[in-house]
Amino acid sequence: MTSTDHHETKTSSPPFLETLSPSRASDFKVCPQLFKFKAIDKIEVPPTVYQARGTTAHLALQWLFDLPAAERTPERLYELFRRAWVELRDTEYPDLFDNTEAERNWGIESLEVLANYFLVEDPAQLEPLDRELDMLEDLGEITIRGILDRMEEEPDGVVITDYKTGKAPPEQYAIPAFFALKIYALLIRKRTGRTPVRLKLMYLNGPTVYEIPITDQQLDATQRKLEALWSAINRAILNEEFPTRPGKLCGWCQYQDICPAFADQPETVAAS
Ligand code: SF4
Repeated sequence: MTSTDHHETKTSSPPFLETLSPSRASDFKVCPQLFKFKAIDKIEVPPTVYQARGTTAHLALQWLFDLPAAERTPERLYELFRRAWVELRDTEYPDLFDNTEAERNWGIESLEVLANYFLVEDPAQLEPLDRELDMLEDLGEITIRGILDRMEEEPDGVVITDYKTGKAPPEQYAIPAFFALKIYALLIRKRTGRTPVRLKLMYLNGPTVYEIPITDQQLDATQRKLEALWSAINRAILNEEFPTRPGKLCGWCQYQDICPAFADQPETVAAS
C-alpha cells in the first residue's frame, strides 16, 4: 500500500482509489462533485477557524483522558486546549488570524464551546477503550482508512463516539454523519469481532447529542451500501462523471466558487 489515495494505472485497468475514508464516502453520497474536489483533484482550500477549532478541541479531548479521572475538570480541559493550540498554530494554521485580537476572540469562543462538553458527560466517569484510533482495514474489496475519535465500554457494550465542535444540524441532516460512524462500527466489528451497540454524535456547540442503536443486520446493510458506493465511485472515476448535487450544504461548501453548479451565477449563495 502506498501513501497515495489516487493512483492512475498505465494499463487498460481503470484508475482507482486505493483507500477510502468514511468522511470521503459520506462526501460522495452528499455530492459526487464535492468528493472529486477533495479526493481526486485534491484541491487545497485555506483552513477555516471552524476547522482549527475542531482539530484543537479533538487533541485537547484526547489528552484529557491521559489525566487521572479526578483531574478531568473544565479548567484542565481549557489548559489542554491552549497547549494544543500552541502545538498546532505555527505548523497547521500559521496565517489563520490577521491579528491577536481575532485569535483571542476565537480562543474565548472555543473555550465556551468546550465548556458545553461537561453538560453532556462527566469524563471522570469514563475510561475510553481507545481515542483517535488510526484504522486501516479491508472490507471486502475496499480498504478503509480513517481515525476514530473515541470508543468506550458501557454496561451494554461498546459505544463509538464522534465529537463535533459545530452546531448540530436538524436530525435528518445528521444521517450522513451517522453513515461515517456506521463504517467505523464495521471496522471495529472486523478488527475486534464485537459489534458496537450504539453510535453517538456529540455536537458541543449547543450542546446536542444524537445517538442511535446499532445491530449486526444494520452493519451488514451498511457493508452492502458501502460496496455499492465503492462501485459508483469507481464508475464515476472511469467515466469522469461527478454530478453536482446543489442543496443546503452548498452554503458551507468551500468549493462553491469553482463548482460547475454555480458557474453561471453572478453571486455565490451565502451560508445561512
Ligand atoms: S457547491 Fe454544492 S454542488 Fe458544488 S461541490 Fe459543493 S456541495 Fe457540491
